[in-house]
Amino acid sequence: MNPERPNCLNNDYGTGCKILREAYTSLFESFASIIKSQAKLPKGTIEIPGFKQSEVQDHSDSAPRNSEQKIKRENFHESARSKKCKGSQAEVGSDISDSSAAKVNLSNEKFDGSTKKAWGSWAQALYHIAMHPEKHKDDVLEISDDIVVLNDLYPKGRRHLLVLARHQGLDRLADVRNEHLHLLKTMHAVGLKWAEKFLQEDASLVFRLGYHPDPSMRQLHLHVISQDFDSKHLKHKKHWNSFNTAFFLDSVDLIEEVSSQGKAILKNDENLLSMELRCHRCRSAHPTIPRLKSHIGNCEAPFPANLLQNGRLVCAPSNAAAVDS
Ligand SMILES: [Zn+2]
Ligand SMILES: [Zn+2]
Ligand SMILES: [Zn+2]
Repeated sequence: MNPERPNCLNNDYGTGCKILREAYTSLFESFASIIKSQAKLPKGTIEIPGFKQSEVQDHSDSAPRNSEQKIKRENFHESARSKKCKGSQAEVGSDISDSSAAKVNLSNEKFDGSTKKAWGSWAQALYHIAMHPEKHKDDVLEISDDIVVLNDLYPKGRRHLLVLARHQGLDRLADVRNEHLHLLKTMHAVGLKWAEKFLQEDASLVFRLGYHPDPSMRQLHLHVISQDFDSKHLKHKKHWNSFNTAFFLDSVDLIEEVSSQGKAILKNDENLLSMELRCHRCRSAHPTIPRLKSHIGNCEAPFPANLLQNGRLVCAPSNAAAVDS
C-alpha cells in the first residue's frame, strides 16, 4: 500500500483486510468525533442521546455526569472523598473531555467564541483547591502562596502531576498575560523540581511539562507527565492527542510566548484531538489506542528533534543518551 514500504503485507490477504478494517474504523471514529463536536448542542446539553453510547459507559471512573451537574459544591467534596478511598493518595484530574463539563466547554467554545464558560461543578474542583488548599490537605502534595501541587486523578502516564496556579482570575491559558510571567516561571520551576524527584526514583522516566489551551478543569494548571503514557486511563484518541499534538503547549514555549508577545499563542483546534494516532517517538501511525499502546511500550526510537530542544523534555542525565541517540 505504501510504495516506500513494499511487501509489508507479504501478500497476506487476511492481515491486509484487518489493517484496512482498523483503518476504516479509525477513520469513522474521527468523523464521528468531528460531527459530535460540531453538533449544535444547546448550552448545558452533555451527550447526544444514543450517540457513541459505548464511550459514555466507558467512563465509569469519570467525573459526575449530566444529572449530577446540579449537585452542590460541598457534595462534590463528598464524591471526591469517596473516590479517594480507592487509591492510596487522593487525586484530582483535569482529564480532557473525560468529565462531562469538558464536553459542555468544548461545544460552547465552538460557537460563542467567548472566553466565558459555564464551568460545571466537577470542572470547578481545581479552582476550589487553588482557592483554599488548606481544606484539601489530603489531596495536595505541596502548597505555597503561588501554587498547589497535586496528582492528576486520571493520570495518563506512570507519573502525572498538576501544578495549579493560585491566582484568582486565571481560569485558563487565554487569561495569561505578561504580569503572570513570574508565576509561570514559578510553576515551571516547581514542575521541574517534582520531575527531578521522580527521576531520582526511576531514571528511565522522561517528563514533559505543558498546558492545554482548552482545559476541562477551571484554573490554570501545568501538566507534568511522564512520557511512557503507561496508564489505564489513556483510553481515547483525544487523550493521546491532547498530550502528543500541538494541542499540548510546552511550558518553556508558553513562557517564551508570554515574554515576547504578552500572551499565549493558542492552538485551540479541536481537530488536533481527532488526528490520527502517531507514536510520539518514531511518529509511526497506529489505527487504535491498544495498537498504539503496544507499540509505544516497545518503541526505542529517539524523540523527535523539536522535543529535544529548549528543554522540552526532562530526563535523568544517565538516560540522556537513550532519549537522544
Ligand atoms: Zn489540563
Ligand atoms: Zn473546597
Ligand atoms: Zn514509535
